[in-house]
Amino acid sequence: GSVLEIKNLHVSIEDKEILKGVDLTIKGGEFHAVMGPNGTGKSTLASAIMGHPSYEITEGSITLDGEDVLEMEVDERARAGLFLAMQYPSEISGVTTSEFLRSAMNARREEGDEISLMKFIKEMDEALDFLEIDKNMAQRYLNEGFSGGEKKRNEILQLLLLKPEIAILDEIDSGLDIDALKVVSKGINKMRDDNFGTLIITHYQRLLNYITPDFVHIMMKGRVVKSGGPELAKRLEAEGYEWIKEELGIKD
Ligand code: ADP
Ligand code: MG
Ligand code: MG
Repeated sequence: GSVLEIKNLHVSIEDKEILKGVDLTIKGGEFHAVMGPNGTGKSTLASAIMGHPSYEITEGSITLDGEDVLEMEVDERARAGLFLAMQYPSEISGVTTSEFLRSAMNARREEGDEISLMKFIKEMDEALDFLEIDKNMAQRYLNEGFSGGEKKRNEILQLLLLKPEIAILDEIDSGLDIDALKVVSKGINKMRDDNFGTLIITHYQRLLNYITPDFVHIMMKGRVVKSGGPELAKRLEAEGYEWIKEELGIKD
């Protein structure tokens, strides 16, 4: 499996420092959850890893298997095996879900080794079935007019087909009803493999009833302030974040 290593990451948006020294290492085979109150920089971390241009890295490093991720263009990051499911997936007019998936899969393959149309359709149909997605969705423009739940399922569809090394899943559970949550979790759990590591960003503990993380990290005010196992998420659900602030002397 691959190793994504984030060291002392500082990120600013419009000269305002949002991340103030984040350290995290995600290895193939590991499920990490990042939790934390709103506005603490969780999405900023996801965007910085994927190379969103609005986020300026002022200090620190991100490497994938020792390669400098910060030197890579956005498409190179995806080709290297990084995957981002965004909190607010954007709509792409004029490109069907199926076309998008096929070209994204081919982008990760060597030239001359493109997936055949038949093999692609077979794999896509299997994944659509597994995620209980209506087959018609594949022929619709990506995310256009999709409900919140459909967008999230679609992100998991991409995950299953693209088989990234490391996936960053930002609020993949937000706005889902319980049935959709179960399907999304089933998809993520299907990825469990020594060659797959993930950083699951979530505001609520609820998702972690279905996906058991190996590590839980609490982020506050731009830093990872506490790390532990799944029991940490349970305690947050029961007691909220106040006790951590008290324990660590963090003031509002
Ligand atoms: P979280 O995902 O933990 O809720 P975010 O990473 O979205 O937090 O936001 C962290 C902080 O950065 C917030 O104070 C937010 O207002 C600010 N922020 C995020 N994106 C932008 C942006 N594009 N421009 C200005 N400020 C931003
Ligand atoms: Mg967020
Ligand atoms: Mg991607």
